[in-house]
Amino acid sequence: MTQTVSPALLDRFASIVGEGHVLRAAADIAPHLVENRGLYHGASPMVLKPGSVAEVSAILKLASETGTAIVPQTGNTGLVGGQTPREGSADILVSLERMTRIRDVDPVGNTMVVDAGCILAEVQKAAEEHGRMFPLSLGSEGSCRIGGNLSTNAGGTAVLAYGNMRQLCLGLEVVLPTGEIWDGLRRLKKDNTGYDLRDLFIGAEGTLGIITGAVLKLFPQPLGHQVAFAGIASVEDALTLFKDASSRCGPALTGFELMPRIGVEFTSRHIPGVRDPLSSPHPWYVLIDISTSDSAETAGRMMTALLEQGYEAGLIKDATVAASEAQQKALWHMRESMSDAQKPEGGSIKHDVSVPVASIPAFMHEAENAIMAALPGARICAFGHMGDGNIHYNISQPVGADKAAFIARWREMNKIVHGLVLQHGGSISAEHGIGQLKRDELASIRPQIEMDLMRRIKRAFDPAGVMNPGKVVAV
Ligand code: FAD
Repeated sequence: MTQTVSPALLDRFASIVGEGHVLRAAADIAPHLVENRGLYHGASPMVLKPGSVAEVSAILKLASETGTAIVPQTGNTGLVGGQTPREGSADILVSLERMTRIRDVDPVGNTMVVDAGCILAEVQKAAEEHGRMFPLSLGSEGSCRIGGNLSTNAGGTAVLAYGNMRQLCLGLEVVLPTGEIWDGLRRLKKDNTGYDLRDLFIGAEGTLGIITGAVLKLFPQPLGHQVAFAGIASVEDALTLFKDASSRCGPALTGFELMPRIGVEFTSRHIPGVRDPLSSPHPWYVLIDISTSDSAETAGRMMTALLEQGYEAGLIKDATVAASEAQQKALWHMRESMSDAQKPEGGSIKHDVSVPVASIPAFMHEAENAIMAALPGARICAFGHMGDGNIHYNISQPVGADKAAFIARWREMNKIVHGLVLQHGGSISAEHGIGQLKRDELASIRPQIEMDLMRRIKRAFDPAGVMNPGKVVAV
């Protein structure tokens, strides 16, 4: 593996895309070398911005021939350092930000073919313009791009009803590390023809090739939509309410999010325009989202009946139902800002974990006891997609604590939280992926056979070891 890239070789890479689409100055490259959480600071001599599949192919062919490491990057919103080149490396960044074409929309077959550089929000908008919906929705949707969404198998707020990116993609176009192009842009719901190559690339975090295009699944736009925010006493009550909501609403239940009091305090304090929607505080809150295909009345009736049942059963202490689309957005904004609202509170140690939904209360209690015993004064802000069993188990530093000393305990906190997650049969990465952050931990918890199979797959696709080395799995 080349550790430095000669000026002559850099020029050969640059000539593929044209000098106008290359970043070489340190100041221009700098924003591509850091990620949202500031955990990783990579190094790279160059960012290439190809404009076509053929250019991506030529880049990867040259990379494999010369043993030059390549790091794909789209929106740079990933949360595990997968898109950040390695520290002190000469990894070349390939950004797909110029490849933003909506290639085709088929409202009959409910599919859409897009370039991997399309911004998620633009894809949602294009679907809407054709009377359809693309349901993937994330806090980062204004900047993350389809290639990154696919490569991290992104989840977000509508997984409960529509699934994650794996379920929302029918076909892929991928440039392999050798430069070969795999055109798997099939629009079929049913296609049982051997190994599922598409599923290998989804969630591979750029370690097996560069995704350049995708066939996405579209859905009819819901005609009815209701969002409610309810104060509750305990996580156990939230779970009972979730069970009632899924029985009553079935597939119309599109979101069921759990939030702690401290999260509502953080967002009210730090996020402009956000305020506590209820008049008195509650230990926990749930955001319930219902979408129906027939009418607004149906969604309204469903929500009212669910809340009435919740009040009668003593599960809901207080609730508000959004009276307009703007209010619906405001409630979701509060939930989606919860992570950002932790930043002004000092250091935050994050966990993106999942456990079987029924185990959430036990996991939350055990984790709280263990964390508070290890780090008295820690402020636990555990929130997330309760209906998917996915909790963002974030821990803010004690008030007045030293930030660096707190962050230095990241691994210790991980060990506690992940240990409990595994005891409950859960996953240490529910939706953000492995990247650099969890690579070694993954190898330490997964059975040997599973890690061996992953390494064999990596070697088969990327014999020269040039695709995003050092991420997901060490070979
Ligand atoms: P990048 O960060 O650029 O890359 C992510 C990974 O994919 C890297 O490993 C990169 O090498 C690889 N990659 C990128 N493009 C390609 C390509 N074309 N081919 C092959 N590999 C590629 N994630 C969730 O799942 N759910 C959430 O609710 C959620 N909320 C978020 C909220 C905020 C505020 C932020 C900052 C992030 C959130 N994320 C969430 C994480 C992140 O937004 C997603 O992982 C997103 O899907 C990454 O897309 P991206 O374009 O930014 O990818």
